This record gives sequence, C-alpha cells and structure tokens, in this order.
Amino acid sequence: MPVFFLIYCDMAESAYDYIITGGGTAGCVLANRLSADPSVKVLLLEAGGSDRHPYFHLPAGFAKMTKGIGSWGWSTVAQRHLKNRVLRYTQAKVIGGGSSINAQIYTRGVPADYDAWVRDAGAHGWSYREVLPYFKRAENNERYANEYHGYGGPLPICEAFFQAGQELGIPFNPDFNGAHQEGLGYYQLTQSNARRSSTSAAYLHPIRDRRNLTVRLGTQTLRVVVENGRATGVEVARAGSASPQFVCAGREVIVTSGAMGSPKLLMQSGIGPAGHLGSVGVKVVHDLPGVGGNLQDHLDLFVIAECTGDHTYDRYNHVHRAAWAGLQYLLWKKGPVASSLFETGGFWYAQKDTRSPDIQFHLGLGSGIEAGVAKMKHTGVTLNSAYLRPRSRGSVRLASADPAAAPLIDPDYWAEPRDRDLAIEGLRMAREILRQPALKRFVLAERLPGDAMNTDAELFDFACAHAKTDHHPVGTCRIGPPGDMTSVVTPELRVIGLEGLRVADASVMPFIPSCNTNAPTIMVAEKAADLILGRLA
Ligand SMILES: Cc1cc2nc3c(=O)[nH]c(=O)nc-3n(C[C@H](O)[C@H](O)[C@H](O)COP(=O)(O)OP(=O)(O)OC[C@H]3O[C@@H](n4cnc5c(N)ncnc54)[C@H](O)[C@@H]3O)c2cc1C
Repeated sequence: MPVFFLIYCDMAESAYDYIITGGGTAGCVLANRLSADPSVKVLLLEAGGSDRHPYFHLPAGFAKMTKGIGSWGWSTVAQRHLKNRVLRYTQAKVIGGGSSINAQIYTRGVPADYDAWVRDAGAHGWSYREVLPYFKRAENNERYANEYHGYGGPLPICEAFFQAGQELGIPFNPDFNGAHQEGLGYYQLTQSNARRSSTSAAYLHPIRDRRNLTVRLGTQTLRVVVENGRATGVEVARAGSASPQFVCAGREVIVTSGAMGSPKLLMQSGIGPAGHLGSVGVKVVHDLPGVGGNLQDHLDLFVIAECTGDHTYDRYNHVHRAAWAGLQYLLWKKGPVASSLFETGGFWYAQKDTRSPDIQFHLGLGSGIEAGVAKMKHTGVTLNSAYLRPRSRGSVRLASADPAAAPLIDPDYWAEPRDRDLAIEGLRMAREILRQPALKRFVLAERLPGDAMNTDAELFDFACAHAKTDHHPVGTCRIGPPGDMTSVVTPELRVIGLEGLRVADASVMPFIPSCNTNAPTIMVAEKAADLILGRLA
C-alpha cells in the first residue's frame, strides 16, 4: 500500500501542496493565507455542507444553531461532578465551522492569558506581544460592528443592565478588547452589514475564484496517512461515496478539525496514547500520550427573570410580530433578526485578588435562546455567567475505530471543587445584578433558579440540572515543549515526532483564554500561516 501511495503522489493530478482537514474557523483562514501564492495548490476538506441557508447569515440565526443545525449532534459522557448529567455538546459541521453558528461575540482575552502560555506551558513565541499582530491582522480582514451597539439596535433593558452593574460597583466598559477587560458593556460582534461575518464569509468568499484552491464540502478526512515518520496525505470519504480516496500532500497536512475533531482524527490515524488506541483496535502509528487530553471549557450557569412588559426579543415569538421582525430586517437591516441576541455582557471578579476578571456575563435578550431552557409565559431575560479559568481537565477519546462514531467527550467539569465554588459565586453575582434598582422597571421576578434557592447546596443542585457548555473547548492538542508528556505540538505547531504534519486550531491552546474562543482561534490560524510559510524564524 505505501508504494501505491508514493506512485499516486508522483502521478496524480489531485496532489496538493497543503491539505487542510476542516473548513472551520481556523481552516478557512488558512485556506486563504496559504493559497495567496498562486503557485501553491491547496485543498480544504470540510465534512459539513455549505452555509447557504439564511440561518447561517442572519445574526439571530444563532438561536437555531445550538439546537443542531450545522452541527455534529454530539453529547458529553455522564459528568461525574454534575450528578452524572449528560450535556448536549454542539460543535459545528458546516463550512466556517464555529464562526458560522456562534453568537458572533468577538473577545480577545487579556495579555496575561497569552503570557501564561509561554511562562507556564512553554509555548514560546505565543506571548501577548507576539500574538497581538495576528489579532490585528484578522481585524483588518473582518469588519466588526461599531463597539457601542450591534445592528439590532439597543433595547432600553441593556442600558438598565449597565446601570445595575454600576450600582454594584461594576463600571461601564466601552471596549473589552482595549486597555481593561472589567466592566459591563456592548460586545464587538463579527458582523458586517447586519450579516454574520464568519471566516467562510470573510476569508473564503472573497477568494472563491482562486484556481489553486479546491474546497471539498461533505468530505470527511478519515485518517492522516503517515509513511516513514512523515505525513504524506489523507484518506477521505465523500458523502454518498462508498470507497475512501487517498489524496497526497506534497508539503504538509494541516489538521484543523476543531478541539474535538482534531484529536479524534489524529487518534483515528494511530497518533495518540498507545494504550487507548490499542483498546479500541486502532493500530498505533505514533505513540503520543498528550493527544485528546488537557480538555478545557467554560461551563455556563444562568439566571432567568420574567420581565414587567415587552422588554426583550421574546415579544417576537408571536407570528404577526415575527413577520414584522422579518420585514424590519429586509427594509432597514434592523430589529431582532439583526441581533445576535447576546449583544451585551461583561467581565468581573469572583475572587478579588486575581490578575484579571474571572467571571464573564452574557445578557440574553430573551428567555428561550439556549437549547433546553424553557420558554416563559411573559417576556424574559437571561443573564449567563461563566467562570473563566477552570483548573479541571478533561479528555476526548475514541468510542471505536470507526471514524463515523461520535467521540467520547468528557470535559470533567468541576473535577476541581474550586471551579464549582467560583462558578456558583458568579451565579450569585448574576442574580445580584438583576436585583438592582436600575432594573426594577424591567424585571418582575427571578424565575430560575428562583427565590427559594439560596444555599450553596441548592445552587449546586440547580447547576447540576441546568449548567451547559459555553462551546469553548480548547487544549486537546496542546502546544508545549517536546520533552513534556502532555505536549502534542511544538510552538511551531508541528506534531511532535512526525514530519509534514501540524495542528492549527483551538485544540493547540495550552490554557483556555479568559474570553470567548473564536477570535483567539483566528489568531492561532493567522500565526500558523506565517509559521507554515516560513515567515517566522
Ligand atoms: C454554538 C456555539 C456558539 C459559540 N459562540 C461563540 C461566540 O459568540 N464567540 C466566540 O468567540 N466563540 C464562540 N464559540 C466558539 C468558537 O466558535 C470556536 O472556538 C471556534 O469556532 C473554534 O474554531 P476551530 O477552527 O478550532 O473549530 P471549528 O470551527 O469547530 O472547525 C472545525 C471544522 O472541522 C470540520 N471537521 C471536523 N472533523 C473533520 C474531519 N474528520 N474531516 C473534515 N472536516 C472535519 C468540522 O465540521 C468543522 O467545520 C461558539 C461555538 C459554538 C459551537
């Protein structure tokens, strides 16, 4: 078989210089940057389909996304520290990946996040000073909404939310990505002209005529083929086609299948912890113990309050109002359809003496936005809170050698009791904000957790029943020094011990940044392009 592959590589018209295994947030960025040189042939493989459906472009389409459109339909394994609950775990399966289905919130985190990658994880070259140019390069590529409002147009309850924060001593912050992160304010959004600006829209669409870039949708990479210690190509399966096909990579295979998909693909290829691979019947090609470990995520808790009147987008749940909302959007590009529904939020402290805020808030302008959250009789408002720097570490493992099988996703939330205590402190803060005088005009009463729940034990019970992922998994192919058993890629993003193979997506982050993870993933991909093209020493 290897001989056949070598002949195929030499002769085949379908040989590419670079093969990118996943057209998500990172994959689209890399497809653009690597194909900028017309003499280089690039293949972008995406298991999901196109983003033609309007839901992918209307900012409010996000509300449909957590319920499964354009996603793999995965769940976690039973969470030991959440009374064995199984949580829905939405991960994108569509061109643009997470950036095509996310809430469009653009946050970068704080300098200390990236400086810790270098200091505590050995990710040399990834300090804030060194990654800032890539955040800036991406901002030049995407055009973000004005920082003071999303295109939906501000609702009065948002202003009252900021005032409520100030009553508690939390200042207004006009720019979470500027000098200071703390405070409440409007999020910057990855939108352009009242449409979602995914990496598919911002990086792929403008270059769709490049002849040296091939994008194959509905094509799953089954495994990376390694011969004599070098990745020579990939084996792929097209939707509806019976037999897998080998495609040759003359220079490199770049794995961008996401924090779940990338370790899954490596392990399917025999690259991972030998013991685990053996246990599911995968032949070991390269024993790399760190693959699939170090999983980190933000776990989200929330308060739902009932409003005194029609103060949030819940009022558009009636058919005639929904029709009016559609018309508003078509005529003026305004109203609820133009809103990501999470336009405001902020950052504050559960622990006073910590280096930067450790709690993030998202104000949801309705009560049924998240999957599994019951709708209320009257309009409602949701305030989500998440602890930002968890110490718990989980894993992604194979359930079987079959690439079609869902992975075993185990974030092991709250394995560290400290994560639980600080998350519950964040939930208490969210409740306090909604109880401030400035919001009295808008908020009738808290409905969840509800006034009867007050002790730590009661709030723990509530969390076990309702906690959900913030959809920020990272860390499962982490950057680190080659001598460290938990490292998967070098600071140049090369898979340790193999040639011609890199990983370049959210999975390489050694620690989860204190923010949403789309902008940091774009930054990783922008920097990866420079590393691959030899523009960095
Ligand atoms: C519902 C949701 C809401 C979110 N909200 C926000 C937000 O508002 N702001 C924010 O900053 N972040 C948000 N995030 C997180 C952010 O979108 C992700 O961190 C980011 O998209 C990760 O990018 P990635 O390239 O690592 O992976 P992804 O974007 O997930 O891309 C991986 C791609 O690879 C494809 N793939 C996987 N396996 C294979 C294979 N074997 N062969 C071929 N293709 C494969 C997948 O189909 C997918 O398209 C959200 C995420 C979700 C899911």
